[in-house]
Amino acid sequence: MSKLNLKKAQFATLCVHGSGGVDQATGAVSIPIYQSSTFAFQSARAGAEIFAGEREGYVYTRIGNPTQTALEREIAFLENGEAGLAFGSGMAAISSVIFSLCKSGSNVVASNTLYGGTHQFFMETLPRYEIEVREIDGTNLDNFTDNIDENTRCIYIETPANPTLTIIDIKNCAKIAHKHKIPLIVDNTFPTPYFQRPLDLGADIVVHSATKYIGGHGDTVAGLAIGKKDYIDELRGTILRDIGGIISPLNAWLLVRGLKTLAVRMERHEENALEVAKYLTLHPKVKQVWFPGLTTHPQHQLACEQMSGFGGIVSFEIKGGRKAGEKLMNSVQLFTLAVSLGDVDSLIEHPGSMTHSTYSAEDLEKVCISEGFVRLSVGIEDRHDLIDDLSQALKRVDT
Ligand SMILES: *Cc1c(COP(=O)(O)O)cnc(C)c1O
Repeated sequence: MSKLNLKKAQFATLCVHGSGGVDQATGAVSIPIYQSSTFAFQSARAGAEIFAGEREGYVYTRIGNPTQTALEREIAFLENGEAGLAFGSGMAAISSVIFSLCKSGSNVVASNTLYGGTHQFFMETLPRYEIEVREIDGTNLDNFTDNIDENTRCIYIETPANPTLTIIDIKNCAKIAHKHKIPLIVDNTFPTPYFQRPLDLGADIVVHSATKYIGGHGDTVAGLAIGKKDYIDELRGTILRDIGGIISPLNAWLLVRGLKTLAVRMERHEENALEVAKYLTLHPKVKQVWFPGLTTHPQHQLACEQMSGFGGIVSFEIKGGRKAGEKLMNSVQLFTLAVSLGDVDSLIEHPGSMTHSTYSAEDLEKVCISEGFVRLSVGIEDRHDLIDDLSQALKRVDT
């Protein structure tokens, strides 16, 4: 265990040391990958006591694993929450949290610009269990109040939202939720705790696709939930244990390693994204650019108030629609044509036909995802190379 007082440490220090420091059992500087499904008890009595909850100890990796514990300790520090819980994917984290709060007859009030998989879960899967999700325009807070009733179990938002970078007012959303005695859940995947800490702004539960910036290297699928200790303990002991959407020890280790560089990566992602956003804004073949760090973003002011930086995702609409967008995506050489985001490598994709193809044409229009809408996940390469690549690709596009 580290001798450092982590309560006083700054964010970048917590990224490196928050998982617990040197392994007590072996002195290993890097937390070992405890690749074991089951754990031996010291005695029959000790085993029974662990099962009865009277003694701490590991039992079985579906219920907990030391490498997973290191990750959960770390993310709780970074989000400034009491406790964290790791899952096998972002969707496992999101679905587990929703199932833990809802039963048949419940409803959820959610903002309408969401990761496509979350939207599908809300619209296709939850209704089969008689859980209704009311997706509303979250930029007008009255819509939350107007849709909450006695069966509403939580408010769910994503900010900045995937892929339009719509910003939702976390502090005031939390006030509305608490007035109705329900929790506010925030998907914090895009900004990461480096740029936004929803729990400090009044949210109750934070969820992550750790596949993205937390892992950061495009090599792991994982999810996280962070909140009050009582809630997280219950989630671990019920839904996670019963449904079993756990993280593997190797993936937990990859996230602990990824988190060590989160602060420096996010700095570079943002610097590069801002330069790319400025470049695109001035380009004659580009109709509109969405990046919360641009003063032209409709909610730039709100972004400045609740975030300490703007992240690494830039979306834009190319003139010439789908055909022009396809030509661009087929012409880039440094950007990789792939979904996912938050990797050190730069990625480009078309939400309308890829990540957000779960939205109907009508819903896409409602949330302003047009045919020419392109999403960039700006990586940590040299920014001049990134802009040169976009420049040569845009030259090939007829608008
Ligand atoms: C990718 C993503 C998810 C889903 O996470 P998985 O790890 O792919 O299951 C959820 N929310 C947001 C904002 C995402 O970008």
